[in-house]
Amino acid sequence: MIQIKDLHKSYHMGTNSLHVLKGINFDVKQGELVSIMGSSGSGKSTLLNILGMLDEADEGSYTLDNVPIKNLNEKIAANYRNKFLGFIFQSFNLINYKSALDNVALPLYYQGLPRKERVEKAMHYLDKVGLAPWSHHLPNELSGGQKQRVAIARALASDPKVLLADEPTGALDTKTSYEVMDLIQGINDEGKTILVVTHEHDIAQMTKRIVNLKDGVIIDDSVVEQVRASQYV
Ligand code: ADP
Ligand code: MG
Repeated sequence: MIQIKDLHKSYHMGTNSLHVLKGINFDVKQGELVSIMGSSGSGKSTLLNILGMLDEADEGSYTLDNVPIKNLNEKIAANYRNKFLGFIFQSFNLINYKSALDNVALPLYYQGLPRKERVEKAMHYLDKVGLAPWSHHLPNELSGGQKQRVAIARALASDPKVLLADEPTGALDTKTSYEVMDLIQGINDEGKTILVVTHEHDIAQMTKRIVNLKDGVIIDDSVVEQVRASQYV
């Protein structure tokens, strides 16, 4: 599903530059649940943003579902992004003046689906994350865990090939974090390919493979015995 080879990325600020990714190589197969672990500042979000086509690498190659991602014009890139990728963020990134339902339905609007279908699909995914009764509530009427569930429903609504989650439990308490990981594990059980960025070891243990990032390189990439979050919820 994902192949990256010798990826490099630097940030330039005036005369300073910061070499953040120094030759990253890895592949992710269809159906994997992988965590990218590393301390704060290790380049996890930089890597995820490149995988999410929100940013481009300086060097190296990236192939997503057999499509080489390089020098695409913004329109084609946006198309691939909408078709291939779903995003989940630490801060949920919901639109505050839209209901849970409308938040989930929004990507479907950009895909050109008629209103009736958008609403049906959005309700289906809200139901899947256990939030059907909350569909008409605004984000500020929901708990953190509920907001993240809405964001997960939104990410799923366009049936992406890959879900990219950047610290999805970073703003949640421990119990709520496990509930969200339980949901993510369930979505993976159904076959979805998911990458989770986290700096928390116990969250990484809930995936099936941990890729450890340090000083811009992968220092370890191992399959692990998945801890089921359900035992904590
Ligand atoms: P992580 O997600 O692992 O905490 P990031 O990928 O966000 O790490 O950042 C890696 C390094 O790159 C950090 O030192 C950060 O300050 C720097 N950085 C991230 N984004 C930018 C940017 N847009 N411009 C300049 N420096 C950046
Ligand atoms: Mg980050």
